[in-house]
Amino acid sequence: MHNDVIIIGAGSMGMAAGYFLAKSGKRTLLLDAENPPHQRGSHHGETRMIRHAYAEGEQYVPFVRRAQSLWYELERESGKEIFLKTGVLSVGKETGSFIQETMKSAEHYELPLQMLNPRDLHNRFPGIYVPNESIGCFESESGVLKCEDSITAYKALAEHYGATLLTGCKVNGITLNDQEAQVHTVDETYTAHSVILSAGAWSGSLLDRIGLKLPLTPLRKTFAWFHADERIYGNDTFPAFAYETPNGLYYGFPSIEGAGLKVGRHDGGIPIHPDEQMAPFGTFAEDEADLRTFVHRHILNVGNLAYGKTCMYTMTPDDRFIIDRHPHYKNLYVAAGFSGHGFKFSSAVGQALSQLVCSGETEIDISAFSLNRFERE
Ligand SMILES: Cc1cc2nc3c(=O)[nH]c(=O)nc-3n(C[C@H](O)[C@H](O)[C@H](O)COP(=O)(O)OP(=O)(O)OC[C@H]3O[C@@H](n4cnc5c(N)ncnc54)[C@H](O)[C@@H]3O)c2cc1C
Repeated sequence: MHNDVIIIGAGSMGMAAGYFLAKSGKRTLLLDAENPPHQRGSHHGETRMIRHAYAEGEQYVPFVRRAQSLWYELERESGKEIFLKTGVLSVGKETGSFIQETMKSAEHYELPLQMLNPRDLHNRFPGIYVPNESIGCFESESGVLKCEDSITAYKALAEHYGATLLTGCKVNGITLNDQEAQVHTVDETYTAHSVILSAGAWSGSLLDRIGLKLPLTPLRKTFAWFHADERIYGNDTFPAFAYETPNGLYYGFPSIEGAGLKVGRHDGGIPIHPDEQMAPFGTFAEDEADLRTFVHRHILNVGNLAYGKTCMYTMTPDDRFIIDRHPHYKNLYVAAGFSGHGFKFSSAVGQALSQLVCSGETEIDISAFSLNRFERE
């Protein structure tokens, strides 16, 4: 059967795009090598943070605001809880770029951001230690997204609006001309007018096969849950946080439904090939030691490690996303390279992709995420 659009990779970005396209009446086929949500890509681990005062650059603020309103819309339409308004605390040296950029974004877009000195911080959140030279920026409107639940919700709605999802369906090639795209698996060839490639860490190798070499680097990342006192670290009292230290940028989540305090490190990671069997958490002594050192220094009253996991980031050289039309094939759109901070935007990325497929343009400003910036480098 001929489709209007085929989405290769129905994870964070692809499933959201599938929802918007099916809702717009497009005959939509989603193909995924696994059965999303799953544990082999970049979207597992239960939670993702959503910050509005964006330290990675103020150009992200309108995008994240759009995404936030779409998360509320998803909650209304699915009847599921997707977003927990825990607030987000950003901590670091006042003069450091992370805090400076957070403040700049808030100022430019008049976002509510409360500045807290170490004493205020200790009074408000006694579970976190902040040295004298650091400060905290608290955003009460931000919080935590239930990442796997949101993919499940988009999946149910996409199917409700008529999309077809084929799981365990690994794409190994694409053949294109301006009128038609053919998407190949070992057993089948599917055809459509347009294609969205949103295959996460595997996007680079699929694009490579049609002659587009992108500087994408998949990384092995680790994160873990620590036993924690619910009265201090439960999500009714403790926020999600990003904490810039001299050793690196760490992040954490309050204990949700008694799971414990979740902690990870944003910078660093080991380059891997996504087809490799990833070494499980604990394979390397640093997996636990690094997180434990951070927890020991900066988080008070936290107990032993409960368990840890691994996941993948897909980095671009400038940590900015790629959301664009292929330079030669006008009916191929690419959404990749989300560089470890893309989930919060996935609702808006899905909407932007859907608009691109439907009309060739999008009202969402995605100019910072173009493919041609790599040609200039
Ligand atoms: C530990 C960790 C913490 C993070 N924390 C945050 C955070 O707090 N906030 C935030 O905003 N972001 C965060 N991120 C980043 C965010 O989760 C990712 O940017 C986002 O999930 C990437 O989405 P994606 O659609 O590109 O990839 P995925 O969600 O992995 O989807 C790709 C899909 O493509 C499928 N696929 C791959 N190859 C093929 C093929 N050949 N054929 C068919 N299907 C294929 C895969 O099975 C997968 O389902 C974090 C990431 C990690 C790993």
